[in-house]
Amino acid sequence: MKIKLHTFRLPLKHPFTISRESVTTQPTLIVELEHEGVSGFGEATTNSYYGHTLASMSASLAAARPDLERIDGLNDPAEFWAQMQPALASDPFALCALDLAAHDLWGKLRGEPVWRLWGLNLDTLPGSNFTIGIDTPEVMEAKLREEPNWPCYKIKLGADHDLEIVERLRTVTKAPFRVDANCGWNLEEAIAKSHALAKLNVEFIEQPLPPEQSADIQALASASPLPLMADENCQVEADVDPCAEYGFHGINIKLVKCGGMTPARRMIDRARSLGLKVMIGCMTESTVGISAIAQLLPLLDYVDMDGAALLASDIAEGVKVVDGRAVYPSENGNGVRLL
Ligand code: MG
Repeated sequence: MKIKLHTFRLPLKHPFTISRESVTTQPTLIVELEHEGVSGFGEATTNSYYGHTLASMSASLAAARPDLERIDGLNDPAEFWAQMQPALASDPFALCALDLAAHDLWGKLRGEPVWRLWGLNLDTLPGSNFTIGIDTPEVMEAKLREEPNWPCYKIKLGADHDLEIVERLRTVTKAPFRVDANCGWNLEEAIAKSHALAKLNVEFIEQPLPPEQSADIQALASASPLPLMADENCQVEADVDPCAEYGFHGINIKLVKCGGMTPARRMIDRARSLGLKVMIGCMTESTVGISAIAQLLPLLDYVDMDGAALLASDIAEGVKVVDGRAVYPSENGNGVRLL
């Protein structure tokens, strides 16, 4: 098989602001995997927090190229992942982009969408939330009003005025909210806020405490009327069991952090066997990455796949998310075609 790398700067509809910087574009790496004239596409966006850049991912894949080019054909993406994982063990983002491309190629070579090759159907699919980033209450309200038709919203919290934000947004819509504290609370604060949020039609709280305070999750889970989802606590396969032991009710999987669709499927199976709820989240991917998440959608309780909806312009066709609902294309594999 042959590999080709493409890099893009995805233009965002709105500047994305965090404490260190404000960005207007999201750099992304697209992996094209080719066999017998057919190409599959995968993606990993860069992430300064986790230290993955276009240069670092490209270097990882360049080092893995000799191994990859020795592999002839693609019978099973999970087997391909196991063959490539040793060379990319230190770079789950690059491994993710390659694994997504392998799935897209596999389905295209077989003439079926990936979800069907996995024996799934699209009869009942969860709707995606739309994420409202942390900002002043005025700006957060304006962002929600701009996107009025999503079935639910994920609200980023972790500020002094958390409850004021949710109360204000609650006057705008009756749709359920999820809140994501991104490790921003302590135990006492989280217990108090969980009771207030439960009265505001909030479905669950994502990552209320930092991973270093995981010992407090059990106490919070006992006191909180709302379920607790792990995100920063659950990055790779080995994190699933500890999340259940800490007392989380579910996990939010990110494909770039765990290394792609192959480990994500195993994490979903393991979470189910432990009685955990399962969500997949996105990292401002284009339609290439979102179309990969869509193949796993029938297996999920919740999904956050609004990435491509945040872009001013996209680089691919594939699964589109329209007001939170996934619309599947006729293309096989993950359904991706670069524009
Ligand atoms: Mg999160």
